[in-house]
Amino acid sequence: MNTKSNINYTLIAPCGMNCGICVGYLREKKKCPGCNESSLDKRCRIRNCKNIKNNQLGFCFECEKYPCSRLKQLDKRYKMKYGMSMIENLENINNLGLKKFIIKEETRWTCSECGGIICVHRGYCYQCGNRKK
Ligand SMILES: [Zn+2]
Repeated sequence: MNTKSNINYTLIAPCGMNCGICVGYLREKKKCPGCNESSLDKRCRIRNCKNIKNNQLGFCFECEKYPCSRLKQLDKRYKMKYGMSMIENLENINNLGLKKFIIKEETRWTCSECGGIICVHRGYCYQCGNRKK
């Protein structure tokens, strides 16, 4: 496995989720390629939202209904369970641009011990097991 962080543009989902830190992406078995992968069976209601699906929109903040109740629900759940906010991510993408957002994400989720990636769902580094401080 690469020791360098490898978060890239295509890993940022329309809802603001960074798929690069998701357990589905980091795990070895049944690895998920990320929400932007077109071959994916997308069960997510945000990913299946017609505004996103028809490719009219890249990110939820571009939508007239932003932030919709679905996004707010997801955001609330993630804030409570994982200490991460989709809406905060989206605001950062909107204000800073995707490039700067990704740099911030790399700083935030890179393991200080080994340079691996801290999994948002597990709360520790997938490579060395170091917990996020
Ligand atoms: Zn580590």
